[in-house]
Formats: sequence, structure tokens, C-alpha cells
Amino acid sequence: MIVMKFGGTSVRGAERMRRVAEIVHNRLGEGPVVVTSAMAGVTDALSGLFEIALRGDREGLDDGLGRLRELHLGVAAELGGAGQSLDARLESHLRELRVLLRGLRLVGTARARSRDAVLGHGELMAQELLAAALTAAGCPTRLVPSTRVVVTDACFGAAAPDLEGTRRQARTEVSPLVEQGVVPVLGGYVGASPEGLPTTLGRGGSDLSASLLGLALGADAVEIWTDVDGLMTADPRRVQGARILPRATFREAAELAGFGAKVLHPASIDPALQGGVPVWIRNSLAPSRPGTLIGRQASGGGEVRAIASRASMAELRLHCPGRAMEGDFLGRLLLAATGPGPAPIQVAVGPAGVAIILPAEQASLAERQLVDLGEVQITASLGLVAAVGEGLAHRPDRWALWLEQAADLGLRRIVQGPFGSSLGVLLSESNVQTLVERWHALCLSSVEEGP
Ligand code: ADP
Ligand code: ASP
Ligand code: MG
Repeated sequence: MIVMKFGGTSVRGAERMRRVAEIVHNRLGEGPVVVTSAMAGVTDALSGLFEIALRGDREGLDDGLGRLRELHLGVAAELGGAGQSLDARLESHLRELRVLLRGLRLVGTARARSRDAVLGHGELMAQELLAAALTAAGCPTRLVPSTRVVVTDACFGAAAPDLEGTRRQARTEVSPLVEQGVVPVLGGYVGASPEGLPTTLGRGGSDLSASLLGLALGADAVEIWTDVDGLMTADPRRVQGARILPRATFREAAELAGFGAKVLHPASIDPALQGGVPVWIRNSLAPSRPGTLIGRQASGGGEVRAIASRASMAELRLHCPGRAMEGDFLGRLLLAATGPGPAPIQVAVGPAGVAIILPAEQASLAERQLVDLGEVQITASLGLVAAVGEGLAHRPDRWALWLEQAADLGLRRIVQGPFGSSLGVLLSESNVQTLVERWHALCLSSVEEGP
């Protein structure tokens, strides 16, 4: 069995959905389970509509809903074949979405659970369309609602999966279909809380849906199909000359994702790592290319395999002399600092206090939560650049070389991953691109030199 996840760019429009259907059709013998994201841009549009509804903007809401309807029904018409039943199913999702959003417009406030219910609709509609494309390509297909399979906690907006619950559900809802030669099609990103309310796994979370299902189903491999040839030495949108990595270790991939390589959701490697399930990154626009294999095996090359970066970071410093090591102080601090958001990038603890690196949009909430624990200082407009490679841990003699290149760029803090397989710096945001380019050049030359 293989889990094949197709990202938003891979399912953007009828033509791309047909390509995806052909890719899956060619793999029918391997027992594919298909996971799809919303079409590119749709989750952003839904998030925008949620805000519009809360502002009470009736016209804006109707316009936005109209555009979403046009987009999805347009793709359905282009796909043809499935006819009225597909239109009716899309209309039913759109109706539910309209009811939800109009309700929010009238009330003017919303809980996180309502936002999840709205944002998950992109995947619900893409799932319908992709299932129709697969059927048209000759794949026996069955839609499986992710709310019946992916069990999560009730942390709306960034829900954490419950592996045992998901395993139980996947084995009853998904495995029997594969055994019958049917292709189950699930929407990524979406799950359900223990009470059965729809949750989302955080933005970009379809990758996590795929690796979680891979682990839960005991799949032979998880394939993340996207719009680039694989995991690369840098984001090809930022750096010309970025190269494909034929292999990477789980740890390297997890660190790259955590430090901002958008091609993978930061938590998506965790389940694969737990079960040792290999993860492939492949290009749905060029399916004959081999892609990147992420697994346990060493990946070779120089000490650094790739460079990742994140903008819009903040550093929060908490002055609390002598308290950091007291009882459950750190636990309380983390809970207060990040709330339901993603874990911070780094927490540095010392006798005088604690420093936390976190996304800027979490900083002001964190500040409000932490004032009771000590004096808080926030520095925003920071960026993070990280060099990642297992080889770094064995080449401390080279660390100075990397850091030297950042010395004139408003360096604020050095950030290292727990196993020494990453070396990063926090610096002024405006210098991120310069350092990415410098470190990428060094990364390529270190690969050429070899270990
Ligand atoms: P999808 O819609 O398939 O989920 P995403 O936009 O989430 O696609 O992720 C793919 C994008 O990730 C690529 O287009 C690329 O710009 C970006 N990216 C960032 N870092 C890397 C990297 N190291 N290797 C490959 N792609 C990367
Ligand atoms: N559609 C969701 C998002 O845009 C999840 C995903 O694409 O992975 O964040
Ligand atoms: Mg993605």
C-alpha cells in the first residue's frame, strides 16, 4: 500500500487533476490511498471569507462565495463525465459553507472551531473533483470523509493527531477498500475532535495527513506530490541554481521543514520517523523524474545538504532571574507563550531568564500571556536562516566558517537543532536573502568537496 498526497498546485484545475489521475492509474497495482489538498489558493480564500464574514460585509461575502462556486463548478464542467451528481455534491458543500459564513456574519464573533469548519471546505470540494477525475481515468474510487478517519485533539486551528484513534479508524474505513482494489480518496488537512467536530491540522497540514495515514495503515511508502522535482538544496523560488537532493534523512527533512522549507509541513516527518515509513517528494508536473527519498539511510554529500529560511520571526526575552528551573515553570511558560499555535523554534534557558524564538504573529499574544511570569521584551522584524545536514554534527571545525559569513548581517542569535544536524542564525529580516545566497553557495561547494 502507498499513500499518495497531492498538494494544492497539483490539483489546481481540471488539466492538472487529469494528470494526477493518470499518475495514480499507473500505480493501481501498489494499492494507492489518495490524499488531496484544496486547490491552490482556496484555503487562503476561505480564510479571507471568514474575516469578511466577521466584519459583517455581506456583499464581500456573497462575491467571494460566488467566486469559489464558479471555480469549483468550472473545474467540474471541464472534467465532464461525472455530470449532475458531482455538481449536486459541490453545491451541497457550498450551501453548508454559505450557511456557516452567513451565521458568522450575523453573530459577528466566532470560536476557533467555526474557523476550522470553514477552512476545511477547500479539501472537501477538491476531494469530490479529484475522485471524479480518478473515476474518469478508470480508477475504481471511493470518497472517504477525513472526519471519519483522522482523529485529533480539540486544539482547533492546529490540532494534534491521535495515532491510536486514527489507526483504528483507518483500519476499518480505509484498509478494506484497498484490499478490494478500490482507491480511497481523502481530503488532507482535516480531522475530527473526539466529539466529532471538524478540526484542521494547521496550514500546510495535508502533508501531515499523508504521513499520519502512512503510519496508521502500515504503508510501504508515503509520496508527497508537489510542483518541484524534490527536496532541494534551497527554495528554488529564492535561489537560482538550487539542486535536487536524491536522498535526505528523516532528521534532515524534519529540520528543513521546521526551519521553513515549505515543501513539507514541519510535523509531517514525525509519523514517518516513528514507523520508518519512507517518504518520497515527487513532481506531479514531471512524474518521470525520480524525486527525493527521505528515509533512515545516510544521505551523503558535504556537511550541509540544504539551506532553509523563515521571515517574520520574533524573539521574546523573559527576565525571571532564578525561576526558570523551578518546578513546572517551563511547562507553564511554553503553554502561555505558544497557546494552541505551533511550537517555538528555540527556547534558550539561563539563570537570568528565557529567550524564545517564535513566529511574529504569535508574539503579541505571548507577551500578554507572559507578563505575570516576568518582564517581557520583544524584538520583531527578524528572520531565520538555517544550514541543515547530518554531517554538521561531525564537523564542528567548519561551524566558524559558516558563521563568519553571517557576521556582517545583523546577527542576533545562533540556533542549533538538538542533534547538531543544523546550524542557524536569527538575524535582521532584511538580510535573510543575502545569507541564504551566501550559505547556498557554500553548501554547493561543500557538496562538491565531499565528506
Ligand atoms: P503543495 O501545494 O504541493 O503543498 P507547497 O507550496 O506547500 O506545495 O510546497 C512546494 C513549494 O515549496 C515549492 O514550490 C518551493 O517553492 C517551496 N520550497 C521551499 N523550500 C524548498 C526546498 N528546500 N525544496 C523544494 N521546495 C521548496
Ligand atoms: N489546504 C491547506 C492549506 O492551504 C492544507 C494544505 O494544503 O496542506 O494550508
Ligand atoms: Mg504544502
